[in-house]
Amino acid sequence: MLHLPLNDISRLHALTKDAERVAIVAHTHPDGDAIGSACALCAFLQSLGKEACVILPDSVDQTLKFMTQDVVPLVWTDDPASAAAIISSRDLLFCLDCNAWDRTAGMADALSGAKAAKVLIDHHLGPDTKAFDLCFSKSYISSASELLYWILLTFPEVDGDASKLPEAAARSLMTGMTTDTNNFANSVFPTTFEMAADLIAAGVDRDAILASLYNNYNERRFRLMGHMLKDVMTITPEGAACMILRKDDRQAYGVNEGETDGFVNLPLGIGSVRMSIFLKEDEGHYRVSIRSRKDLAINQFAKDCFHGGGHAQASGGKLYWPADIPGPDAAESYVLSALKDFLKNR
Ligand code: 5GP
Ligand code: MN
Repeated sequence: MLHLPLNDISRLHALTKDAERVAIVAHTHPDGDAIGSACALCAFLQSLGKEACVILPDSVDQTLKFMTQDVVPLVWTDDPASAAAIISSRDLLFCLDCNAWDRTAGMADALSGAKAAKVLIDHHLGPDTKAFDLCFSKSYISSASELLYWILLTFPEVDGDASKLPEAAARSLMTGMTTDTNNFANSVFPTTFEMAADLIAAGVDRDAILASLYNNYNERRFRLMGHMLKDVMTITPEGAACMILRKDDRQAYGVNEGETDGFVNLPLGIGSVRMSIFLKEDEGHYRVSIRSRKDLAINQFAKDCFHGGGHAQASGGKLYWPADIPGPDAAESYVLSALKDFLKNR
């Protein structure tokens, strides 16, 4: 069981009881944990009779659409004016898997200016505590989904019994935790297994979740993966692997955005590789993903070289042109030189 501050839990129960209309938001390019935690909380609040909705900064990738079968999130970029009107009409806002409003991109102003009470439930470092009335922030945990799981168990309606969670909430929490731990490969704690055991005992079908997450890709993703590993990946003498995915290449293989999730983990299967960096070309910038082994923290590197941050073993950021590099072709030399500096004395 995860121990949570009793005062904060009482305040959360009171805020929830008093609220009638609730909105839940999560970070841009929502991943499984963002979607899973937000949809789970929404399903739970709806089961309490609240008018609750999820609003995401941008759309859910095709590979994760199966997670939105019960709670269908609104997407800010589809209709910002309507989404802003909903936000301003709410009396309670939850921010999930996201440590600051500015990680909600276009929604940030509407959220920070809203009159509603604001609650953070997140596992990233450096939460913007001033922006919230109540914060549940813990970085030594697998995922926002796990933190939310332990919070939901404290509600009198659940009373510590996972089988009393709405089925959609239980399934979403399990899915979110599974994606953020890369199926129990990283950031797993005793409480993570405890949560999983409770949810499976409560009837969550883990096999179905794994099939949807990991055995439902199309062939094109694997063809592109082969190309990246064979023709694109560089491994430096210091043990850093680097792969840069150009837009033309992605399009030539007919692969959409989310279908490259997980590529960054592949080089860590090589014994001599200590860290892996994966860049994906976007408009005017690359999106950067970085992963490392347990003895090497890379979040400061993400901050210093890619305007980003994150967790010790899983971080990310961006590389812009012309601000950081003259153009997209210059990315490789920038990254290789940054990696050399970073790993020099490590
Ligand atoms: P991913 O590689 O899965 O996109 O991101 C891994 C982690 O890196 C995220 O959970 C988040 O903590 C962090 N991260 C990714 N992109 C950014 C970014 O642009 N800014 C910051 N501050 N953190 C990021
Ligand atoms: Mn997360």
